Amino acid sequence: MNYKTANMIRFFGVIIGIIISGIFMLIYGTENNFLFVIGVVVAAASFIIGLIFYRCPNCGSLLSFKPLILRHCNNRGHKLGG
Ligand SMILES: [Zn+2]
Repeated sequence: MNYKTANMIRFFGVIIGIIISGIFMLIYGTENNFLFVIGVVVAAASFIIGLIFYRCPNCGSLLSFKPLILRHCNNRGHKLGG
């Protein structure tokens, strides 16, 4: 997986997951709430995908989660495309 794709999934997936779980938690509470669990799973899975795939293509080190769009790898300053 491309690190840019992983970054998008990490960013939007976590937000979407939190929104889904938040909405259904407000409506139904957290007990026996299947849709709340789905939201949490989506957020967690997106976060894990970010941890696994959001890495520098040059040295493989985990990229910083801030700022959203990195220009340089935080390990050795490798230039990142785009
Ligand atoms: Zn690097």
